Amino acid sequence: MRNFYLLFLLAFFMTDMANGQSDFSKKLFDNYDAYLEKSIAHQYLKREDIAPVIEALKNNKLFEVSKLGESVEGREINLIKCGSGPTSVLLWSQMHGDEPTATMALMDIFNFLMADDKLNPVRQTILENTTLYFVPMLNPDGAERFERRNALDLDLNRDALRLQSPEANILKDIRDEIDADFGFNLHDQSTLYSAGVSANQASISFLAPAYNWEKEVNESRGNAMKVIVQMNDVLQKYIPGKVGKYNDTFEPRAFGDNIQKWGTSTILIETGGYPNDVEKQFLRKMNFIGIITSLKSIAEKSYQNENIDDYYAIPDNKRYLFDLIIRNAQIEFYDKMYTMDIGINRRRQHEGDNKDTQYSGYIAEFGDMSTFYGYDEFDASGMTAQPGKIAQKPEKLKEASIKSLHKKGIIAMPKPVDYERSFTQFPINFYTGEAPEFKVRLGASANFYLEENGKVKAAVVNGFLYPVENANFDKGNGLVFKANE
Ligand SMILES: [Zn+2]
Repeated sequence: MRNFYLLFLLAFFMTDMANGQSDFSKKLFDNYDAYLEKSIAHQYLKREDIAPVIEALKNNKLFEVSKLGESVEGREINLIKCGSGPTSVLLWSQMHGDEPTATMALMDIFNFLMADDKLNPVRQTILENTTLYFVPMLNPDGAERFERRNALDLDLNRDALRLQSPEANILKDIRDEIDADFGFNLHDQSTLYSAGVSANQASISFLAPAYNWEKEVNESRGNAMKVIVQMNDVLQKYIPGKVGKYNDTFEPRAFGDNIQKWGTSTILIETGGYPNDVEKQFLRKMNFIGIITSLKSIAEKSYQNENIDDYYAIPDNKRYLFDLIIRNAQIEFYDKMYTMDIGINRRRQHEGDNKDTQYSGYIAEFGDMSTFYGYDEFDASGMTAQPGKIAQKPEKLKEASIKSLHKKGIIAMPKPVDYERSFTQFPINFYTGEAPEFKVRLGASANFYLEENGKVKAAVVNGFLYPVENANFDKGNGLVFKANE
């Protein structure tokens, strides 16, 4: 009887703790604007964008800011330390230059830590029980060009053993110096991962990286899994079904795997995609909430109550998503018609210092795609897919004129003389020199039209679909074809 009563008390206590984490996350969610670092409003951030934010931390006695070293091209890499507790936590972001979401969130986390409001008790719990070490933007040269690799064309996440790059040495040295209890390895992943076999984007994926080929679980890795279980519980409230688990194959050259092996409980957070969040500002908020609730969990050691089975229950990242699937189109090959689904993906492109996100769309899959999902889908039953046609002279860049081109199956026109960019902001492609020739084939650029009984039903311009009735013309993104210049 007494045991029963104790069990009841324990169950009550644990439920209460879970509610505590979720109440707290709701406060973070609701008050987020108070912590948002407003000077960082864009995912194409560079060292010069975060430098003033870091510089300002030097005026706050909560933080110790130091210089860890420099990148290949001489950009500074900083360490920001705060808190005085016995549990050490090392958080590093953007070792891949084109993976900026968590760096933005770290700027918000600094604002949270130095704020003075009704969340002070939690703030104090974190700062008294942990010592936090932040290394934001480990690869500033890559960030400068919005590229994965550093200025030596090295993937820093394959340089943990050979340690050729100054950036990898910086991370290894600080890890060894602190011998951190917990580590947060912060990345962005493809927006095309799904959470399990589903149409749900893996908006956030987690991993407690393996430290050997056998994927064994020691206490240190187990603790990372338990922190992830709590983070998953919290994020499921805001992005239900959109949390995945990253591939856990051991990679002997990667930092996450090695830092796990060196005894730091390592947590990988990968930010994926979320509908209508091209700039990843909502996912930045999810990083903010996930990381702070984890720090609270580490400070209170509440993760210890979790079960690692719940970690394994998080759905694996899968590749079941395409940006656009056109279903059941008829396509002509060698004078015969075939029924094909057309899977289209869009590569993100970045043009110099321009902060617009642009894409180039290509045909990534052909055939029976009934087992796959598209963010956008279009049923082309009864329609044939035909290579896009070319206009011989420029037309007005007005909705009505472009629509009338689409109705003729025309998806490209000569470039207006004064247009300088590599992309168009219109639902039409431009070309210079000889006209490009489009094909509806695997690997080709996605430029075609769909017709039924001789009538054009939709144009596909650079991977974006424009039905001739009710198309959205606001967000055009054509390409400028210059190949034959
Ligand atoms: Zn990465």
